[in-house]
Amino acid sequence: MSIQTTNPYTNKVVKSFHPINEDELEQKITAAHKAYQSWKTTPIAERAKYLHKVAELMLERKQELAQIITLEMGKLIKQSEAEIEMCASVYAYYAANSEEFLKDKEIDDDGGKAFIRYTPKGIILGVEPWNYPFNQVGRLTAPNIMAGNVVVIKHASNVPQCAQMIEDLFHDAGLPKGVYTNLYLESSRIAKLTEDPRIVAMSLTGSEKAGASLAENAGRNLKKSVLELGGSDPFIVLEDADMDLVLKEIMIGRFGNMGQACTSSKRIIIHESLADEFTEKLSDELFHLKAGDPMDPATSAGPMVSQEAAEHILEQVMDTVNAGAKLIAGGKLMNREGAFFEPTILTEVKSGMRAYHEELFGPVAVIYRVKSQDEAIQLANDSTFGLGGSVFSEDIERAIDVASKIDTGMVFINEHAASKPDLPFGGTKRSGYGTELSPSAAREFMNEKLIRIKNR
Ligand code: NAP
Repeated sequence: MSIQTTNPYTNKVVKSFHPINEDELEQKITAAHKAYQSWKTTPIAERAKYLHKVAELMLERKQELAQIITLEMGKLIKQSEAEIEMCASVYAYYAANSEEFLKDKEIDDDGGKAFIRYTPKGIILGVEPWNYPFNQVGRLTAPNIMAGNVVVIKHASNVPQCAQMIEDLFHDAGLPKGVYTNLYLESSRIAKLTEDPRIVAMSLTGSEKAGASLAENAGRNLKKSVLELGGSDPFIVLEDADMDLVLKEIMIGRFGNMGQACTSSKRIIIHESLADEFTEKLSDELFHLKAGDPMDPATSAGPMVSQEAAEHILEQVMDTVNAGAKLIAGGKLMNREGAFFEPTILTEVKSGMRAYHEELFGPVAVIYRVKSQDEAIQLANDSTFGLGGSVFSEDIERAIDVASKIDTGMVFINEHAASKPDLPFGGTKRSGYGTELSPSAAREFMNEKLIRIKNR
């Protein structure tokens, strides 16, 4: 994939970048390794000052950064601004709390005194996606830089300006060179990079295919990996749910970021007593969305990330309809310039159809009607993915019971799936392994070193 900015609103290439050559790569890894030697002993309170500065600069530059997100991947400008705010809060959270998260942990030990000391490991490689180009990077970078590791990031090839702006933020906040490094690299060169002994661990957020490839290379080189992969999250609506709330949440949960979120509510599983009313009201909401320039705050349906992505989801929808599903709304590329796909509703989707099994990474709501809570749980779990999910009910005990029976890493009650700095984020099954955010992520790439003093 060439490293370039293509504006999905016009499908025009705006700017191209050269991948770094092998010598440049070697220089950057050498600089990162050198930076690690002093960063690991830099007092945590000092590291925190730098990260607070990164957060501050992000907020100061919010407009400029948000515009580049919107230019490169088509996110609506208000949502791009919200991403910058969220990402700044992730840096501020780890800057404020990592000292506490990483303090020694005492262990009960008769015959001695023992504790765990968290020590950094070295250079962490991050391979990142375009859909939240700042926030995804922040989630890996903030806890690790606070913990004394250093990071090198291979960002998605279609967001090179975001990638450079993140490095600039670290530079301008005064961090020593090499603590954060942007690598303009093709994904085909990641396998070789994982062999480098100076790279001690790696994390990838993206598709199953890319994740499996990274994990294979990490395993071959006996290095730890964290994978944040795709999802097909269930959005369960029980018969006592509040319809207004459900509608409000699904519009953000499924159509925010034009459906291009890992935890987007991709499968709506609704009790049959509410299904007709819900389908009608959702169609009405979609009818009133206004397609247009994502830089214009009045636009409510922007382009998808690329023409290729729009054509891919068109193919998934058409194959599903041809196999017998019912198209209630949308289902076509919009008749205009840019990577626009109509917000879509599908019903009567059955096992064996593409939309039942594949991740639909775009603005497509699939509505499944069920007769009972048990049927809802069974359908929710009939997926190879296990990232997030939602349950809607006015009876919280009942919703908790359903949540506990869903095979995913996260379940949200009476809200769409979301991420917050203090809540752990991660999946199970083919959605990956390991945790981002929360105190857990502060320790994910640390050496949990046992130190024991024997009683004498
Ligand atoms: P993708 O194609 O897998 O790309 C993600 C990153 O992996 C990019 O930097 C890409 O580089 C790189 N990559 C691709 N193939 C690779 C390989 N063989 N080895 C190493 N790196 C490789 O994913 P995408 O389509 O851009 O992103 C959407 C996917 O990400 C969806 O499935 C979504 O659900 C998932 N996602 C998950 C989370 C989560 O937290 N669980 C969050 C966001 C997105 P190039 O751009 O150069 O190809």
